[in-house]
Amino acid sequence: MEDYIFCRIAVGTSGCWKMWETSQTIAFLDINPVSRYHTLVIPKKHYANIFDIPDDELREVASAVGEIAKRFKEKLGVSHKQILSNNGREAQQEVLHLHFHLIPRSSGDGNNLRWKTIRPSREEFEEMASILNT
Ligand SMILES: [Zn+2]
Repeated sequence: MEDYIFCRIAVGTSGCWKMWETSQTIAFLDINPVSRYHTLVIPKKHYANIFDIPDDELREVASAVGEIAKRFKEKLGVSHKQILSNNGREAQQEVLHLHFHLIPRSSGDGNNLRWKTIRPSREEFEEMASILNT
C-alpha cells in the first residue's frame, strides 16, 4: 500500500479542512491554495488517476465536484471557477491520487492559464475525430 497524503486524508490519519464527504468521496481545502476556498475533491479509495478509477466511482466524484461548485455559488456567490485535474506526470500531476481542483477565480487574480495552441490542418482534424469516434 502506497503512502500518499491523500490516502491518509481519506482515512482520517492526516488532518484536513474538510468541506464535503460521502461514502466514496471527500473534499477539503488545498493546503497550497491559489485562491481562497481552493478545494480538492478525491475518491476515498486510491486510484492514481482517471485511467484507473471505475466508472461508478468516477461518477460519484464528478457529482461531488458539481455539488461543491454549486455550494460555492450559493454560500459565497462564487460563480467563476476553474475545475481541472492533472492526470499523469507529463500532465503536471504531482500527487498520484486522482484529484480535481476547484479554484475560485476573480478578475485580475493573475492566475490565467496560457496554453500554447497548435494549428492542425483540416485533414489532421478529420483524422483525429475519426480515430476517437470509432
Ligand atoms: Zn492514494
